Amino acid sequence: MKTVARKLRRDGRSIGFVPTMGALHEGHLSLIRRAQQMADTVIVSIFVNPIQFGPSEDFEVYPRDLARDAELIANKGVDYLFAPNIDEMYPEDFVTYVATEGLDKRLCGSSRPGHFRGVTTIVNKLFNVIAPDYAFFGQKDAQQTIIIRRMVRDLCMDTEVVVCPTVRESDGLALSSRNQYLSPEERQAARVLSRSLQLCRQLYQEGERQVSKLITAIRELIEKEPLARIDYVAIADVDSLEFLVELDEEDPALVALAVFVGTTRLIDNLILKPETES
Ligand code: AMP
Repeated sequence: MKTVARKLRRDGRSIGFVPTMGALHEGHLSLIRRAQQMADTVIVSIFVNPIQFGPSEDFEVYPRDLARDAELIANKGVDYLFAPNIDEMYPEDFVTYVATEGLDKRLCGSSRPGHFRGVTTIVNKLFNVIAPDYAFFGQKDAQQTIIIRRMVRDLCMDTEVVVCPTVRESDGLALSSRNQYLSPEERQAARVLSRSLQLCRQLYQEGERQVSKLITAIRELIEKEPLARIDYVAIADVDSLEFLVELDEEDPALVALAVFVGTTRLIDNLILKPETES
């Protein structure tokens, strides 16, 4: 892949890169479409990165179907697929990691120790192989986008990070490869994540600025759903990820949550901004 990327650069072709773990869905495809609009050549990677999974997490059972994914993206006109194997990425004596200290312990980082260090390390490696002009990430993983942006800035990487909106099912559930784990009852119950964020947005639009009140409203709604168990609900600064107490009229705020539905951990988020919101 490195040689291909080097040649593309030599030929003056800009590279758009979409890193994924496969089990591709419309969320991934939206990143690919954006990449195709912005870059001459689009490279998609599929790699289920072992070092971003905790010992009791779903690395072994994470959905994998490389043949289907490869066909799907070929049909969408993606130029190159990079699907390295684990030994290629992590030789036995691998010892070098990249960490965004502090940011990686907040929100999802507190329930998934080591997760973001795994993410920043693999993204760094993939960027070193591909040296993309643009890299595309989904707002669905809000903390990941904040951490990657910070890594790119702190390490003077020559890649522009482009964040694309969360793609949702018609009932609001954010698309995720992990939605495949849900039983039909759990799938219904999973609607509570986006519903609780919509409630938060509504209260915010009605003028509520007390974080504790917004969080209580979200928690109360989720707690009514018997199949759901809250991991965390937080409202934080969009750069530092520090918890906020009261929202002001200038700065956007990240509302982020992680909820177990049955045994499946789902995440979702919303950015609150004074005039507009996403
Ligand atoms: P994953 O394969 O889950 O690691 O995701 C690869 C990329 O796709 C990440 O940048 C995710 O944020 C993005 N992504 C996943 N789900 C969605 C979604 N529903 N909408 C937009 N982007 C998404």
